[in-house]
Amino acid sequence: MVLTGECFCGEIRYQISGPLVDPLACHCSRCRKAFSSQSSNYARVDSGDFQWLAGEERLTSYVGQHGFGLLFCSVCGSTLCGTIDSSVHGVVLGCLNEEPELEEVHHIFVDSKASWEVMPSDVTTFSEGRPPTDRR
Ligand SMILES: [Zn+2]
Ligand SMILES: [Zn+2]
Repeated sequence: MVLTGECFCGEIRYQISGPLVDPLACHCSRCRKAFSSQSSNYARVDSGDFQWLAGEERLTSYVGQHGFGLLFCSVCGSTLCGTIDSSVHGVVLGCLNEEPELEEVHHIFVDSKASWEVMPSDVTTFSEGRPPTDRR
């Protein structure tokens, strides 16, 4: 299944021709700021499965610690992708146009969540990161 995504204003569009892997919602204070939300909502893609369809010239980026960066629409501000060393590493789930087929989303760093966020009771949570054996 080919998935598409776009930013809020629609100037930037992309498609993904492979699976979304390891969906995570990280509730740490850094992710709240990076994703302007109660958590990240993010899944990895193989960079070879990812293709910009329109508006790539409107992207802007911020690269934080460890070479992990985020790509934004310079018009509307939507956060579209994460990058490692300038290649696409994953996508922000909120910008997908279709309902993706996903593994269960793991909620991590829930001990750091904002006081105003109410966690649903039927999701898999981790106080901090996942134990190494759980990581794929
Ligand atoms: Zn936009
Ligand atoms: Zn985080």
